[in-house]
Amino acid sequence: MKLTFYGVRGSIASPGKDTVKYGGNTSCVLFEPDDEIVLIFDAGTGIRHLGQHLISDSRDIYLLFSHHHWDHIQGLPFFRPIYQRGRKIGLLSNNLNNGDAGSVLEQMNDANFPVTSAQLQAEIEVVAFDDRGSVMIGDTRVSTIPMNHPGGGSGYRIETTHGSLVYITDNELFPPHEATTSYPEWVSFIQGVDLLIHDAMYLDDQMPKVHGWGHSLISQALQLALDAEVKRLLLFHHDPSRTDAQLDAILADSREWMASRSAQIEVFMSREGESYQL
Ligand SMILES: [Zn+2]
Ligand SMILES: [Zn+2]
Repeated sequence: MKLTFYGVRGSIASPGKDTVKYGGNTSCVLFEPDDEIVLIFDAGTGIRHLGQHLISDSRDIYLLFSHHHWDHIQGLPFFRPIYQRGRKIGLLSNNLNNGDAGSVLEQMNDANFPVTSAQLQAEIEVVAFDDRGSVMIGDTRVSTIPMNHPGGGSGYRIETTHGSLVYITDNELFPPHEATTSYPEWVSFIQGVDLLIHDAMYLDDQMPKVHGWGHSLISQALQLALDAEVKRLLLFHHDPSRTDAQLDAILADSREWMASRSAQIEVFMSREGESYQL
């Protein structure tokens, strides 16, 4: 059971000499629970590279969208498996204020992209959730929770017989308005998970300017991991202007923060190309 990052950046791709180490592609994370299926969280620009690897295998693909803001969908037209005849691809989105999982294909029209969604060769289907926002994909349970973000969207909890992980990006843990999901609800959704990936876009000194923008402070993600007693925390959706040197420094501070609380939680900075075994 392997997790691999293909895009870790928030808002817009940010290539350049200052982002070589952690990567400049927008959100895309691969999870391989078994030999039958692959789960992909978000289709940011990082999914182009991932698609080149998946073209030569036959596993069914499930695309789990946190929401449909550009930085989470804009790589989809360059994901080669959508052009493979008969390739099975499931689309999942939940708790969006507008649209459904299928609406992610609307960017493929004559105006925004030369190939239209009607021309795709893969067998692409929307996967429905049950009343509680969960679904079984093979032996893997997928659960959702509404995130605090403009336009809505979902965080995901994935349970397999071997382990569990949670993917939550573009989520403001303490928004200025009434939260869609309250802090205690987040703690209970995440409780005891093996690996937590969480939005960590801003630093404390960027407040109050960024309050209400739909993202969390790094310090809040650390506190959440502590309160929910997770085993590993991966800080994610880095600000596009954050340099490698700044991310290195933030990681060192974050580890010190955990150590000063005698917490056993391992903290990492999400980094393009890096894998974690569950
Ligand atoms: Zn985003
Ligand atoms: Zn967003």
